Amino acid sequence: MKLHEYQSKQIFSRYGIPIPKGKVATTASEAKQIAEELGGRVVIKSQVLVGGRGKAGGIKVAKDPAEAELFAAQILSMEIKGLPVRKVLVDEAAAIEQEIYLGITNDRAEKKPVIMASAAGGVEIEDVARTNPEKIIKVHVNPLLGIKDYQTRDIAAGIDLPRENWKSFGEILKALWQVYNDNDATLAEINPLIIGKDKRLVALDGKMLIDDNALFRHPELAEMRDTDEDAPSEVEARKYGLTFIKLDGNIGCMVNGAGLAMASMDILKFFGGEPANFLDIGGGAGADKVSAAMRIILGDPNVKAILFNIFGGITRCDEVAKGILIAMAEVKPKVPMVVRLVGTNAEEGRAMLANANMITAETLADAAQKAVAAAKGA
Ligand code: GDP
Ligand code: MN
Repeated sequence: MKLHEYQSKQIFSRYGIPIPKGKVATTASEAKQIAEELGGRVVIKSQVLVGGRGKAGGIKVAKDPAEAELFAAQILSMEIKGLPVRKVLVDEAAAIEQEIYLGITNDRAEKKPVIMASAAGGVEIEDVARTNPEKIIKVHVNPLLGIKDYQTRDIAAGIDLPRENWKSFGEILKALWQVYNDNDATLAEINPLIIGKDKRLVALDGKMLIDDNALFRHPELAEMRDTDEDAPSEVEARKYGLTFIKLDGNIGCMVNGAGLAMASMDILKFFGGEPANFLDIGGGAGADKVSAAMRIILGDPNVKAILFNIFGGITRCDEVAKGILIAMAEVKPKVPMVVRLVGTNAEEGRAMLANANMITAETLADAAQKAVAAAKGA
């Protein structure tokens, strides 16, 4: 799950990382009012869950409240990489001397978190990573030990940070580590961490990604989710505890188990089909989950056929059949449906679906071919 800049910076601030004073606005007049409260120059920052806002024109420095209102109006009517801007952060503008990059993420190959830092921070960091990778230094963290003083000094020296900023840099880096660790983040990033004209370090931007699988123990973070920018079908799926990802094909897939779902998609592709979604109803799904899943799949106008591939283990095939029947009564699907039920209570399940006007299949290969043919209108 992605957090907005303002959310990430609020968390940073709670851990003692210095951030600019600022507030979120949803209208231009609100932005003007905040600018008046802050006094002086402000920066108007689009809050959308994509990178590169600066380059897209979504970050503008305003010299007074009137200009803040104007820029906020412009930015609030923008779309950045397809996402409408609904909020802006109005921050006190900073006078920048240098922009530093500082981030912590997982290094899967090393099986450890890694700190990345560069003296060449700011909007060009991706180019730096590509053309001058040696300008980004990397230091791994032992998660049991956390960050040690010698590491913060190594990094400060490695990015040629002025001596006077080392102490503050060390504190910020340790705080960023706590942010990362405490919140089950997969990324905690400050770009830029600036040295201001006043020589102080300030986190001007903030970005956090939270591990979705850890959200159950962070209800306060889960609440921060901005569902505005997710596909509505994915929001609905989350509500029912379904693992769902919308794709561009035309064969809806309802499968139990992530591995089986992947295999089902592979085999559909093998026979020339294109899956419309990844959907794992999970183990032991009851009829309510199944019918919700079916409504979500059928809500996609691209779907021309549905493949049900259910391996009954913990999940009972008769429960799945019941869900399918409930959903059929509700939504009256017009697309052909291919069903393969194997395992626990498969007989009962098949008997329940016998009069439901479904195409039945024995093997996965058979089911996939029938679904591909059905989607092609054969
Ligand atoms: P991003 O493009 O989405 O990463 O957005 P950032 O918040 O990082 O802003 C992009 C760039 O805008 C920064 O690298 C700065 O150069 C500039 N910027 C952001 N805030 C300020 C500010 O308060 N004052 C000045 N002078 N520049 C700013
Ligand atoms: Mn940035």
